[in-house]
Amino acid sequence: MKVLVVNCGSSSVKYTLFEMENEKKIAWGLVECVGLPEAYYKRQAINAKEKKDSLKITSHIKAVELIIEDLLDKETGSIANINEIAVVGHRIVHGSDKFSESVLLTEEVKKELKECFSIAPLHNPANYDGILAVEKMLPKIPSVLVFDTAFHQTMPDYAYMYAIPYEYYEKDHIRRYGFHGTSHNYVSQRAASILGKPLSELKLITAHLGNGSSITAIDKGKVIDTSMGFTPLPGVVMGTRCGDIDPAIIYYILNKYPQYKDGDNLNTLMNKKSGLLGISGLSADVRTIVKATETGNKKAKLAFEMLCYSVKKYISAYYGILNGIDGLVFTAGIGENSASIRELICKNLHALGIEIDINKNNITSNEERFISTQESKVKVMIIPTNEELMIARESKLCLLSAEKV
Ligand code: AMP
Repeated sequence: MKVLVVNCGSSSVKYTLFEMENEKKIAWGLVECVGLPEAYYKRQAINAKEKKDSLKITSHIKAVELIIEDLLDKETGSIANINEIAVVGHRIVHGSDKFSESVLLTEEVKKELKECFSIAPLHNPANYDGILAVEKMLPKIPSVLVFDTAFHQTMPDYAYMYAIPYEYYEKDHIRRYGFHGTSHNYVSQRAASILGKPLSELKLITAHLGNGSSITAIDKGKVIDTSMGFTPLPGVVMGTRCGDIDPAIIYYILNKYPQYKDGDNLNTLMNKKSGLLGISGLSADVRTIVKATETGNKKAKLAFEMLCYSVKKYISAYYGILNGIDGLVFTAGIGENSASIRELICKNLHALGIEIDINKNNITSNEERFISTQESKVKVMIIPTNEELMIARESKLCLLSAEKV
């Protein structure tokens, strides 16, 4: 069975075609800058060289058309017939409290998804455009929607509610949702496999540290709490997002600086100009921050330390909430690659039974691996995330269970 995974952003379409017999990628790529003069299409198939072309790509439909044509190309394509694709899996950022699991696309589901636009205006309409484009190009192939928020739907109400008047929850669905659910789900399943125990017997903290970062507390495979909230803005310090701040700061800035009377500017300040970039004034990229730290840049050092401190705080809080943990997982761009960030996060966490082996931590590798010492009570692991594969698995499962009915 082949599954096509599509991740449609406001100006991009990413895709991966999987052969599910062995769960291997057979073709993948992305169309960037849709609707802009600098649009390009970059793709690769297994055992072939990467290709990149600058092209006029005016819409998501055009982008999907291009991808399908390429997959079907007689000489370089990966499939001979479009019907080889059993199902298309779509990454959807926000499922609100309507979607607690992946669903097969129907007209009713489309309607419900549209009702979630206002809750994630930057992401959900773009995801929806992707659905329409795939529907137009592949009308006979079923689609499954996989939500970034779904894995977190097991949180208890006292963890997901905000202490603002209850009516805003009832009227506007304002509550914690959490994001990166597909990634936290994937790495927790891999952690159980690596630890040789069922998820139902494990307590885990998963740290997805990338451009956006979130920490999740998982008890017996169920999310108990997660650091992102109603939006992906709160939680730990991120590349350009501020993470947790005193909400009254927003009110203060809004009243003091006229340019922030426009909510969009304030949103940009918190989402695009804060975090590592805002503190260092230099970059949102951890690699640049670490280099600058080494040459004595004080603001870069502060940004680095703030990030590590904020992650450490969440790990410690979730350790308490879970009453101890079996495993701590690092994943995503920073979690998988930045030894110095992992080292500072785990420093002086002996009281929690977290001890990492500095030599193991410093090894560069793409493999799943332990970085804790032999004596460490908590097993600390690096597990490369694979959100696309998780979406492909979910889509296959959803299709098979719908066929059974
Ligand atoms: P992601 O959002 O998961 O793609 O992560 C992107 C972030 O990971 C980048 O902005 C970098 O800060 C970080 N990153 C990627 N590669 C490395 C690396 N080799 N060392 C340190 N940080 C890295």
